[in-house]
Amino acid sequence: MPYCDHNATAPLRPSCRDAITHALTVTGNPSSVHAHGRAARAIVENAREQVARLVAAKPDQVIFTSGATEANALALWGAVEGAIDQGETEKVARITRLFVGAIEHSSVLKSAQAVAERVAGVRLETVPVTVEGVLDVEALRIALREGKGRALVAVMAANNETGVVQSIADISALCREAGALLLVDAVTAAGKIDLDAGLCDYLTLSAHKLGGPQGVGALVVRDGAPLVPQLTGGGQQKGLRAGTENLSGIAGFGAAAKAVLADAGERARIASVRAHFERALRAALPRIVIFGAGAPRLDNTSNVALPGLTSENIVIALDLDGVMVSSGSSCSSGKIAPSHVLSAMGVADELAGASIRVSFGWDSTNEDANAVVASLVKLASRARARAAA
Ligand code: PMP
Repeated sequence: MPYCDHNATAPLRPSCRDAITHALTVTGNPSSVHAHGRAARAIVENAREQVARLVAAKPDQVIFTSGATEANALALWGAVEGAIDQGETEKVARITRLFVGAIEHSSVLKSAQAVAERVAGVRLETVPVTVEGVLDVEALRIALREGKGRALVAVMAANNETGVVQSIADISALCREAGALLLVDAVTAAGKIDLDAGLCDYLTLSAHKLGGPQGVGALVVRDGAPLVPQLTGGGQQKGLRAGTENLSGIAGFGAAAKAVLADAGERARIASVRAHFERALRAALPRIVIFGAGAPRLDNTSNVALPGLTSENIVIALDLDGVMVSSGSSCSSGKIAPSHVLSAMGVADELAGASIRVSFGWDSTNEDANAVVASLVKLASRARARAAA
């Protein structure tokens, strides 16, 4: 069945399944010093190296978490509380301003909101995006220059709904100049564009967007960046994230990172499927609107509006044809409210409400793309016939 919802969760790669099933046969706790414990530890440290390589980081900068929701929360809370701690002892300024892009994932938006509500003296500010979904870097520059107090800026490397890519190098330079800390949510971008954790203080990842398992992710932290642990208990992961490591999940995560780096042709294959999809869809239904098409975009994502139809109806009709896509962000689907990402781009509610997200990945083919197009064409002609009747 054509599965075109990789930005929600990518299918598990065969090499990840193998790594996971092998790890499940290892009995030991990675913290135990005996042979079985050492075997488990080797799996964790091997995966840490593979994940670090994916984002040009050092293995000891990688903290495994239960996913990117936890990694984003750890970065935001850990940075703000860490700067308070260090501010008292090492004269590092407290963070008083949190900047979030208007199109961030809810795990960043909601955590940042909670930090601002619960930590005295911290204010939350939203950075707008252009109509193409590109962060307004000039607005951020002015806000950083004009306001007082140390800032933490949270920006995603690529948007999960539109695939629009941000210039992390420019934003990084701006943050360094202003003495601001930078958190990059690299969940959607990982494996699809080159990433350099050296450009930011905190970077977050999630295995299931890469073809690894769900329920495991990572926070990559720059050496010396403030970070107060949010889960305490055992001393795992240098005390920064207590809890026995998710051995099989971490093994699968490492295998996913390795698979991405090992297959040099994967990106071009995915790009060609997406190009085929958009060409065929434009030819069949010329009135479609592709959001973010004028901006740098990941090669796997199409957020398309079909004027006259509604997102929910499209997703259901395609599902009946055995074709799986998403209505906007999977985390917000089920809700009637239009996507906050499209709203932030100035898209009118009616057009936003006619949009779907089609996202390809490692196992996608032109046949998958053709199935989406065929199903959409059938639906559109049925709607036309109904309107004419
Ligand atoms: N950030 C982005 C951009 C995402 O798309 C997601 C998952 N929808 C998350 C963070 C949260 O990741 P996880 O599912 O691993 O908690």
